[in-house]
Amino acid sequence: MRVLLVEDDDALAEGLLAGLRALGFAADRVDRGASADTALGLAPYDAIVLDLGLPGGDGTVWLARWRDRGDRVPVLILTARDAVDSRIGGLDAGADDYLVKPIAVEELAARLRAVVRRVRGRPEPVWRHGALDYRPDTRAATWRGRAIELTPREAALLEVLLAHPNRILSKAALLEKLYDWDRELDSNALEVFVHHLRRKIDPAIVRTVRGVGYALGAADSMRPADGPP
Ligand code: CA
Repeated sequence: MRVLLVEDDDALAEGLLAGLRALGFAADRVDRGASADTALGLAPYDAIVLDLGLPGGDGTVWLARWRDRGDRVPVLILTARDAVDSRIGGLDAGADDYLVKPIAVEELAARLRAVVRRVRGRPEPVWRHGALDYRPDTRAATWRGRAIELTPREAALLEVLLAHPNRILSKAALLEKLYDWDRELDSNALEVFVHHLRRKIDPAIVRTVRGVGYALGAADSMRPADGPP
């Protein structure tokens, strides 16, 4: 999941960025609404974390502008503890959720996963694909009832594939979901993650579409439970 953080407080922003990345998010940061507006046109963000007190214009104004032009990207606003009016203003302007500072990054991550799930229209707690069960809230996966250890990046890749079960995703599109500005796009790394998912789950869990990218493998293409390993 790729997130855009709009926050002018450097210390807070750096802490949240590091925390989100450690939890497997791709995350970019800008410090004002106009830059966020530009960034939205450059990358396919799954969600925005928007501070309301920004230099050069209140966050609510930008949020209202995005909603006016039909952009439904989930927005989670950050507000000060005593700023009840601005919180209400943000929700009225189209925010999907809010958090009150100080922010615990684990809670921010959980709220982000929840708003994205709601918007994707896949609110069920367990995503099932053949013998694979995946829980987007905890990123826990089981294959034939057995827990699978996935790194945050492997889980992020699996989640993108499961969220678009009938689509071929180009390598560029996958990389844009998994990487942010500070980390170089590297399609070799993507191939390594795909290799790991195949080894840990099933060789057919990810289908290579030559010259295009990858797709989620059909559930019935995977090895039968009692078949050869
Ligand atoms: Ca601020």
